[in-house]
Amino acid sequence: MNIKELTDLYLFNTYKRNPITIHKAKGSWVWDDKGKKYLDFFSGLAVSGIGHAMPPVVAAIQFQSKKLLHASNLFYTEPAALLAQQLCKRSFAKKVFLCNSGAEANEAAIKLARKYGSQNGRYEIIVFDNSFHGRTLGALAATAQPKFHEGFGPLPPGFPVAKFNQIDSVERLITPRTAAILIEPIQGEGGIRPCTPQFLTALRKLADQHGLLLMFDGVQCSLGRTGDLFSYETYGIVPDVLTLAKGLGGGMPIAAMLGSEKVANVLGPGDHGTTFGGNPVCSMAAIAVLKMLSPKVLKNVKKQSQAILKDLEPLARYPFVRELRAVGLMIGMELTIPGAPFVETCRKRGLLINCTQGNVLRFLPPLALSDSERRFALNILQQVFQREPVQ
Ligand code: PLP
Repeated sequence: MNIKELTDLYLFNTYKRNPITIHKAKGSWVWDDKGKKYLDFFSGLAVSGIGHAMPPVVAAIQFQSKKLLHASNLFYTEPAALLAQQLCKRSFAKKVFLCNSGAEANEAAIKLARKYGSQNGRYEIIVFDNSFHGRTLGALAATAQPKFHEGFGPLPPGFPVAKFNQIDSVERLITPRTAAILIEPIQGEGGIRPCTPQFLTALRKLADQHGLLLMFDGVQCSLGRTGDLFSYETYGIVPDVLTLAKGLGGGMPIAAMLGSEKVANVLGPGDHGTTFGGNPVCSMAAIAVLKMLSPKVLKNVKKQSQAILKDLEPLARYPFVRELRAVGLMIGMELTIPGAPFVETCRKRGLLINCTQGNVLRFLPPLALSDSERRFALNILQQVFQREPVQ
């Protein structure tokens, strides 16, 4: 049996997979099992932003794995402590909770908000249409896209849904039960939809007026994607809670919930936990990633973002393109027709892209993208757009 047959036979059928088997990856490039090479223009879905198998990350993993693979969180370990220190030093945060995935980081944020509000009977968390916060039940309830809920009800209550970028719709939902607002500064799965700066500014003000926590889901849009280390810096709006995952471990599974001074003492022993949270090897990988996210890399994100947008302009004029949306190297091209044939044709030509919401082509290029890699991608996109692939 080949890999595809084995996968189809033994793994739950939860993913619509591309029909290639990824064999290895290095930097911006990925190889399939037939030796064909692809430019990874969506960075393993925003995980390998700093590049695949980057030497500092690999070295950190090798070093730590020889020393200590695991210790229970009932003990102290150096990598977790150093990672939390780095995250606090480089952000607004005073405390960090380490876990394993974006959904888990958001679950931690949801629990923190509920605990914070519990003394005053507050438990509701206002979320937004088209949001995506993960697949576990709490994160799923916060994900205001009915298609993900189907067949999984009843979901935990307490997640009223406001309209994205419409402040009066948020105001209308605030009641004495409201504890927090949870939002992606730039919606990812929802179709690369950025908050307007005015909206985030107004949300911060509203949260302060009503004593609510403002919580940002930065799982997809942080760690360099916008040209700053964290997307809240790009907006100049500081949240009370920020969740991170995906790019944090440079390919290793690690996530974090960051909290400000205001929430630093909300959670106590026994309130929350996870066996693998702050795993020594993953934490060392994350420390290496944070080090790699240098001002030089962040500057490159801004430079390449401008260049790509200029390159994509002519493509955005094709009649089947509705809108081009971007912040930094988080780019969405909404089509009037299905995006899947574009993804497939690009892949056949050696370019990995993604499509979300059925018709939004999503580009999440490597943060250290070079001029020649950008030209390689654009060249393929031009060829593909010229022929307008259809299903
Ligand atoms: N939040 C956002 C904004 C995401 O994009 C995702 C995943 O795509 C998640 C949460 C869930 O992360 P994970 O798949 O690591 O649980």
